[in-house]
Amino acid sequence: MHSLDHIFDEQLKRRQADDLYRSRTSHSGPQAPELKVNGQALLAFCSNDYLGLANHPQLISAAKKACVDYGLGSGASHLVVGHTDLHHELEESLAKATQRPRALLFSSGYMANMGVISSLLERQDAIYQDRLNHASLLDGGLLSAAKFKRYRHNDSLDLQQQLKNTQARRRLVATDAVFSMDGDSAALKPLSQVCNEQRAWLMIDDAHGFGVLGPNGEGSAIAQGLTVKECPIYMATLGKALGSYGAFVAGSDTLIESLIQFSRNYIYTTALPPSIAAASLAAVNLLTDEPWRQQHLKHLIDVFKKRAKELGLPLMPSDTAIQPIMLGSSTVALRVSSALKDMGLLVTAIRPPTVPKDTARLRITLSAAHTESHLQKLLEALAVLQKQGLLPSVKE
Ligand SMILES: *Cc1c(COP(=O)(O)O)cnc(C)c1O
Repeated sequence: MHSLDHIFDEQLKRRQADDLYRSRTSHSGPQAPELKVNGQALLAFCSNDYLGLANHPQLISAAKKACVDYGLGSGASHLVVGHTDLHHELEESLAKATQRPRALLFSSGYMANMGVISSLLERQDAIYQDRLNHASLLDGGLLSAAKFKRYRHNDSLDLQQQLKNTQARRRLVATDAVFSMDGDSAALKPLSQVCNEQRAWLMIDDAHGFGVLGPNGEGSAIAQGLTVKECPIYMATLGKALGSYGAFVAGSDTLIESLIQFSRNYIYTTALPPSIAAASLAAVNLLTDEPWRQQHLKHLIDVFKKRAKELGLPLMPSDTAIQPIMLGSSTVALRVSSALKDMGLLVTAIRPPTVPKDTARLRITLSAAHTESHLQKLLEALAVLQKQGLLPSVKE
């Protein structure tokens, strides 16, 4: 009766009955628009490989060379003996790319967010988070002893009201710069003004902006013109647009030294393999050496939005590579995703608890690796589903 299997079999059944059950599709071969899943060829619109770098020959050859020169594993944490000159060079190039004095590598974005928030705040402090923030920011807040507050999505006035009423010693405001499941960008200037006026520190998570936004993929802080003073904590990942793995935090020398001293998620974990640092470095160089990827992606986003609007598909207010179609019910979202699969397209249904209740959606993502003819195939399939009544229409 009290066995683990007995209790969790019940929970799993409930999840299945609610159409919230997750299962993984495994594919063989590199991340790319054209995938092989159980022998079926599928055209994918759901990866975060926004620039198509995950399978780029320069990243692969940099990783191969680093394996030969540095071996595979880093063998220790950064503070013990895992920090190589490849990690160091990558940190310097990330600081330069984001126009911040310094940068510090973390093993993943999840760990960076947990590590920053929990090391900067204590019991007398408070963390303020946008309602739609990524789980890793929320978990960082929960891990810290600070008071945990949430403000209405992208609403700097609500944030201002809450900050005016606090006695908290340190105040940290954390937001996704590009919201991962909605695709809209946080209005960073108003947020930074409120932070400045209410003595709070602004932290942005640019997992979906770094590499993509700004003239050369510098990310959301530069794209929206925020200095280090206006946005003292910049965090981004290397596993999305950069096609690699890992994450970093950029900011002042004091911020970085403090994280090295106090961030448990930085200190007590093995450094990334040197080959991953080398591949990431190659990706950072491509951002400025070959800016055509960002431009091509921007073009695809414009084309998608224009044609989807003509079809009367209910788009969300997003100008980024994340272009979700809101469906509401998890059952409908699964049905649409499965119908697309039958037509040779892979687009994941995103359901609670990843998104709030009754806001299940199709999360379409575009990549510089897509061609206009790929896009055409997606739009044709969406039009078919709309004719069948599976997708809503907002045409007058
Ligand atoms: C993916 C993601 C993360 C986590 O990054 P990983 O490197 O995959 O752990 C953090 N924040 C946001 C907004 C993300 O989308």
